[in-house]
Amino acid sequence: MSPEQLRRYLNYYQDLGVKNIYRRAAAASAVSHAAAAPMPVELPPLEPAGDTLAKIKEDIGDCRRCRLCEGRSKIVFGSGNEKARLVLVGEGPGADEDAQGLPFVGRAGQLLTQMIENTAAKEGIPIQRPDVYICNVVKCRPPENRAPQPDEMEICGQFLARQLMALRPRAICALGSTAAKALLATKDGVTRLRGRWHKWRDIPVMVTYHPSYLLRAYNQSAKREAWEDLKTVLHFVYD
Ligand code: URA
Repeated sequence: MSPEQLRRYLNYYQDLGVKNIYRRAAAASAVSHAAAAPMPVELPPLEPAGDTLAKIKEDIGDCRRCRLCEGRSKIVFGSGNEKARLVLVGEGPGADEDAQGLPFVGRAGQLLTQMIENTAAKEGIPIQRPDVYICNVVKCRPPENRAPQPDEMEICGQFLARQLMALRPRAICALGSTAAKALLATKDGVTRLRGRWHKWRDIPVMVTYHPSYLLRAYNQSAKREAWEDLKTVLHFVYD
């Protein structure tokens, strides 16, 4: 691996918030310098020029790159308008999404649809859920709906990055802490991050509460805040 390639990999993975990039990079450069017994390293490709959602889906294929493939029924790639100005990113599929192969179709998904459509209607913004694009950090359902593990996020993160680069939305809305971690490489929680703009590469990112969190009855103030966040995002993107 040339120093230029190494630099590009470092930048790419740091953008994705990959924690063990230095270990991987060291291993990768060891490959080119070691005289014998090269170490096996698997670095996924950088985003190809002219990438499309169809190509990314094809590359995911019948993915077996991490343990999440073992329990999944369907890969949940993403859905919505491929020319969307807004992309919402969740954590990973639940049981309903796993069964249907579509993101946010269960109870949390119904709430998300209401949030988008009611906020847009109230603010006089003529969009509905099919006008935006929705996907997740990991494309396969984690067992028992547990949070995705760092290596799972790292492996699937390359596809999320490619989706976002191919879609090139005006803004991204990160739903919950897993999406925030994946996009912003931060340990801060949603409460600290929400309500203001961040960036993923050059694209503005708003972090807000995950709809599953909002379904819990005691989260009335979080609900109000999430509605405010969405209002800010919709005006920014569609005004
Ligand atoms: N929760 C998520 O994070 N994503 C989905 O697709 C469904 C529920």
